[in-house]
Amino acid sequence: METNNRNCLRCQEEMTRVSVIPGGGGGVLLIEKMKSGFFKGKTSSVNAFVCTQCGYVELVAENPAIFKEK
Ligand SMILES: [Zn+2]
Repeated sequence: METNNRNCLRCQEEMTRVSVIPGGGGGVLLIEKMKSGFFKGKTSSVNAFVCTQCGYVELVAENPAIFKEK
């Protein structure tokens, strides 16, 4: 999956991939599928990109397909 080249939605500037640093420390930021408050084990790491022009930050799931409803 190509995630290294993204352009800013606002000014079309090429965005730079950056690290997401969670407050608690420990590595990657995760997103999880919400389903009646029960953990289903479906998580994806998140890639972050910042526009060096306007400062817009975009978060992109590494594996978005796992959240697709069957
Ligand atoms: Zn921008």
